[in-house]
Amino acid sequence: MSHDVINPATEAVVATVADHSAEETDAAVARATAALDAWRRVAPADRARLLRRFGDVVDAQNEELARLEVANSGHTIANARWEAGNVRDVLTYYAGAVERHIGKQIPVAGGVDVTFYEPIGVVGVIVPWNFPLPIAGWGLAPALAAGNTVVVKPAQLTPLTAMRLGELALDAGLPEGVLEVVTGAGGVVGGRLVDHPDVRKVCFTGSNEVGRSIMEGCAAQVKRVTLELGGKSANVVFADADLERAAASAPYAVFDNAGQDCCARSRLLVQRSAYDRFMEHFERAVKAVRVMDPADDDAEMGPLISAAHRERVAAYLEGARVAFSGSAPTGPGYWMAPTVLETPDRSAPVFTEEVFGPVVSVVAFEDEAEAVAIANEGPFGLSGSIWTRDVGRALRVARAIETGTISINSNSSVRYSTPFGGFKQSGLGRELGPDALRSFSEEKNVFISTEEA
Ligand code: NAD
Repeated sequence: MSHDVINPATEAVVATVADHSAEETDAAVARATAALDAWRRVAPADRARLLRRFGDVVDAQNEELARLEVANSGHTIANARWEAGNVRDVLTYYAGAVERHIGKQIPVAGGVDVTFYEPIGVVGVIVPWNFPLPIAGWGLAPALAAGNTVVVKPAQLTPLTAMRLGELALDAGLPEGVLEVVTGAGGVVGGRLVDHPDVRKVCFTGSNEVGRSIMEGCAAQVKRVTLELGGKSANVVFADADLERAAASAPYAVFDNAGQDCCARSRLLVQRSAYDRFMEHFERAVKAVRVMDPADDDAEMGPLISAAHRERVAAYLEGARVAFSGSAPTGPGYWMAPTVLETPDRSAPVFTEEVFGPVVSVVAFEDEAEAVAIANEGPFGLSGSIWTRDVGRALRVARAIETGTISINSNSSVRYSTPFGGFKQSGLGRELGPDALRSFSEEKNVFISTEEA
């Protein structure tokens, strides 16, 4: 069985990719299991060297990987180059962690007590379609660095760059079986990674609905699980902020990757006393967003991933009050213009659910307390931004908003060297940052008696 992979900007078939069966998934898990013992015993400096070399090979293929991502996912070429660069950076960063994965020596009576970080075993990394390269990298790099072997399952819509990463790992000298990539349907390949007893951890990024079922499936074997799920993040603009700067960057906080970003600030909260001034600047900025052929160096936003997804996003716009919108190409491709809604009804689905498209809802607030209360509505808590010149307020609000990562006077969300993950139903566990290897390790305690016989 196989399926066609479609270029979302042109609707042309880019490739035909195998849909692997449960038995073929088992065979990949068996190869990863067979490779485990030798991989965990590779000397730390050598494992580090192999991961650095993998990073170098990815770096050398940056343009090829980026072009593949543009064709497969419709990401702008500038974003896709950054994404391939992010895989290199994550590999290099965690290569540096292999030799620093240091246990403790704990004072105890009658002997010496030390802890070791042991690999968990085979790790299944299940990746969504919205950021195929970085999200594969965030799972596989620290997992490999900690001595695990990995089976990556890319999304059916966007498997091409993960498949290429699997080949590049071999080119870099990683032994066979250490990194397997298995394409196919979520319920089949992903489901098998959840059920297979030799897969000891599942690292899942995707929707809340599937995430809940993964957690249930993992519970049956008390399998380790990390969940990176949806978001509905708030961009909070106070009247004392640099309004022009806040407005100029607000489109990219939600329309980047056509809004198909778990960190998209799809709720824009603006203090009432500055609302009109902000919206004037914001309208100009939204209309200036360059939505065009993602392969063009000038493109700032490409198409949505599929026809079905565009329909799903468009359904949120029925009956909504559109304040203004940007532009988008017509003709083939799953295009949608950046769209700004003014939504005083905060119970509307477009304000409560993750739209995952180029749609932002703007709401006014009176004061700090109301801003925090609105930001904390709903089940999500992944990302967010605060714009203010008041340092005290910036930190008070940053602490008060229930979210895993938040930026002040910036819309950045992710750095490989800082932890990333969700509060509430946006996820479970953290990825990236200096401690990522711990979540791919079991901590073992060893006591050595020094008592005389
Ligand atoms: P999805 O949940 O439909 O699919 C994610 C992955 O799970 C795919 O590889 C899919 O094939 C697989 N899958 C589907 N059903 C499965 C099953 N029953 N068992 C095992 N695997 C299964 O999500 P999607 O539509 O690909 O991605 C969009 C979602 O991902 C959004 O909700 C977005 O917020 C979320 N996301 C979260 C983060 C984060 O870091 N928090 C990052 C990116 C995307």
